[in-house]
Amino acid sequence: MNSRQLPIVEHFNDKNIKIFALGGLDEIGKNMYVVECDDELIIIDSGIMFPGDNFGIDYVIPDYTYLKDNEEKIVGLFITHGHEDHIGGIPYLLKKVNIPKIYACGLAVSLIRNKLSEFRGLNPDIVEYTNNSVFKFKNFEVTFFKTNHSIPDSSGIAIKTYLGYILHTGDFKFDFTPLSGHTDYAKLTKFSEAGVLCLLADSTNALVTKFATSEKKIGEIIKSIFAQIKGRIIISTFASNVHRVQQIVEASVQEGRKVIVFGRSMEKAVSFSQKLKYITAPAGTFITAKEFPHLPPDKITILSTGSQGEPLAALSRIADGSHKQIKLLPGDTIVFSSSPIPGNQEHINRTINKLYRAGANVIVNSPLTDTHTSGHASETELKIMLSLVKPEHFFPIHGEYAMLRRHGQLAVDTGVDPKKIHILDNGEVLTFAPGNKVFIKNSVKSGVIYIDENNFDVDNLVIKERKILSDDGMVAVVFPTQANKLAKTPTLISRGFIYMKDSENLVDAIQNKAKALYDEYYSQTKKFILTQLNNVITNALADFIYERTERKPMIVPIVMNVQ
Ligand SMILES: [Zn+2]
Ligand SMILES: [Zn+2]
Repeated sequence: MNSRQLPIVEHFNDKNIKIFALGGLDEIGKNMYVVECDDELIIIDSGIMFPGDNFGIDYVIPDYTYLKDNEEKIVGLFITHGHEDHIGGIPYLLKKVNIPKIYACGLAVSLIRNKLSEFRGLNPDIVEYTNNSVFKFKNFEVTFFKTNHSIPDSSGIAIKTYLGYILHTGDFKFDFTPLSGHTDYAKLTKFSEAGVLCLLADSTNALVTKFATSEKKIGEIIKSIFAQIKGRIIISTFASNVHRVQQIVEASVQEGRKVIVFGRSMEKAVSFSQKLKYITAPAGTFITAKEFPHLPPDKITILSTGSQGEPLAALSRIADGSHKQIKLLPGDTIVFSSSPIPGNQEHINRTINKLYRAGANVIVNSPLTDTHTSGHASETELKIMLSLVKPEHFFPIHGEYAMLRRHGQLAVDTGVDPKKIHILDNGEVLTFAPGNKVFIKNSVKSGVIYIDENNFDVDNLVIKERKILSDDGMVAVVFPTQANKLAKTPTLISRGFIYMKDSENLVDAIQNKAKALYDEYYSQTKKFILTQLNNVITNALADFIYERTERKPMIVPIVMNVQ
């Protein structure tokens, strides 16, 4: 994104305050921020990202090399809230790096414990913080400020350093009629009075102008949608969007409907949230799979996962008829209640088409799927945050490049010095030194690690190869040889590249070129080295094929002794 090429640093040994992201910049997902001073290092959040094209990949996480190399400095991992882009990476981080303590709040604690229970041998020390907790370290004092977001128990983190406060908002919006507690406005003003060196703030909706809709208002919208539906309602949302689930439950109760929950993550989220009283309902509201066939359709709300079209989620299985307990009936209405995450639209469309084919009514475009009902602050709210905090420096986070830039501009509009707006890449280090010195001169190692469905790391090279195969296919060139000398003209095998029968001229040309390349190597080289031959042939054939087809298939030379 930037043209800067900064030297990579493996260790810092100074008392300057360093802030950087290992994930979360120029992307939505895998949030992970680091604040370091002297021999202490704080990590904020450890998220995953869902890949755009998947190539057999389920998740993307940040490269943890820097943390591994500086393991002994880590004082703790602080979690802002329980969304996957903030906690999803924790098991993978714990497998690689020793984390002395994880600090989390309320619902996030349950979600983390549940996540870790699916992995063997991960028993970190989890400390539950509250809005009033204070954790003191040699160079830092960490406190918290409550925020509003689309999940309960979301928090911002304030780190007091000898150069002033560093504030990290986590994900937030301003909601003046929230479902569970108000943003801690008073604390924000106090930090501001004490002096905020740098604010890191959520940029997701920096390009959105309308004020985020209050959770109360969203509740009313759901009730009005439910009031108009006659048959069964199947409504999908994120399992972690606990407020939305509560509103769905309330609307169901109002319409005399019972609620049945499908999808493993949804069942778990509902059960934790009931324990924490974030989801409340009159006794008998929730029913089991056994009870629901006996109820009339207009008395049933089915709450399911799969609002993003995830192929394995309950809604997708309902849509393609493979769900064991729910078969679509004429008159069913499916309500999507979350806005699509960028990159998921294609999956969602596929699910919607299947639902229509099965004869269901589908409500896709409602105020519920509007970005304004998301949990993230838009333009005006971002300006309110900036005006309350009045930071000296501003570091927009949690957003794609355009969002970060726009958020930077909003900060300038509220009075932050344009020279003190820092739009960074993952890995780039913002450094504060005594005497108002600030510079961006170094990077730490950053990058991506791919995780497949079995929770294994998949090498970047493997992903690259899968991409080549899926884009342009593969050409194998078989060289029959005797004592390293070519015995016959090479033959081609194509998979996903060209249909050989219709491309005789091209096949002949490639075979002849391959023969010429082999003969040339054989006659000119003193020492026959197979890997060298492979490189020569692969590179030259790639150019040859590209000139004729403008495609770059994977080329696999196979030298076969035919004696
Ligand atoms: Zn979030
Ligand atoms: Zn987030």
